[in-house]
Amino acid sequence: MKEVVVISGKGGTGKTSLVAAFAALAERKILVDCDVDAADLHLVLNPRIGSREDFSGGKKASIMEERCTGCGRCHEVCRFDAVSSLADPDGRRFVVNPIACEGCGLCARLCPAEAIRFEPAVSGQWFLSSTPYGPMVHARLGIAQSNSGKLVSLLRREARELAEKEGFKLLIADGSPGIGCPVIASITGADLVVAVTEPTCSGLHDVRRVVDLAGHFRIPLLLCINKWDINPEIADRIEQETGQRGVRMAGRIRYDPAVTKAQIMKTTIIEYTGGAISADIRALWRNVVYALG
Ligand code: SF4
Ligand code: SF4
Repeated sequence: MKEVVVISGKGGTGKTSLVAAFAALAERKILVDCDVDAADLHLVLNPRIGSREDFSGGKKASIMEERCTGCGRCHEVCRFDAVSSLADPDGRRFVVNPIACEGCGLCARLCPAEAIRFEPAVSGQWFLSSTPYGPMVHARLGIAQSNSGKLVSLLRREARELAEKEGFKLLIADGSPGIGCPVIASITGADLVVAVTEPTCSGLHDVRRVVDLAGHFRIPLLLCINKWDINPEIADRIEQETGQRGVRMAGRIRYDPAVTKAQIMKTTIIEYTGGAISADIRALWRNVVYALG
């Protein structure tokens, strides 16, 4: 089975629209939305949820009031200001703010009254769904929850297992933007990365970082310059500079307001229009297929 992951140096470059277009073009594939911090592939692919599971990425502290003596040790030691002292007519009372708690466990370890529970906390849910384009594995992380790298690894593992079980030969992942932990979790062990950028100075800066990242993990990378015609000079510069570093082009995609219209209609650009932009993406997809071998 081959795995291609679409990433970008920053959000908003058109990464998810491109993944949705690939979903419409590829045959017999599994889709994974690894952009768990801002998941939106489901908005275009209209998944029907088949199963859902809780995801627990770490532990959180909580104070058992009946055991707490109000000594304040937890408040003193928490480096994240997650323990607050409340005014109480019966003496001092302490509570943990679950959003601020980083799950280090120090307070539970040092509480002299063993009054702090330190247990796995549910931080989101993940889903196995069906879409008109094939099975999709995706997730919803709770508000202010972290551990998205762990969740990404879980989604990819589940998608791979499903692909093997069902005999699928291709996995297409919508990776996370940036170069942090969730992106690393999105691309490690993949066969190919497609990096989407825009022809802007920040696009050039971000693509340098993405090229470094893929190079570090020795994953072949193809570059896509989206909306290249809004600034052909910088598009040329990006292609030239990355080309000097051995990066091959997947292709260029022209600017077309039809992309936004397709999103509003909750469909892929390929199905929305057979115009020139669809031809750009079809050509780009052929290059991806060729690179996957
Ligand atoms: S350290 Fe334990 S006993 Fe002391 S205030 Fe905190 S929870 Fe209560
Ligand atoms: S587990 Fe760590 S972060 Fe959470 S309240 Fe205790 S000391 Fe603070």
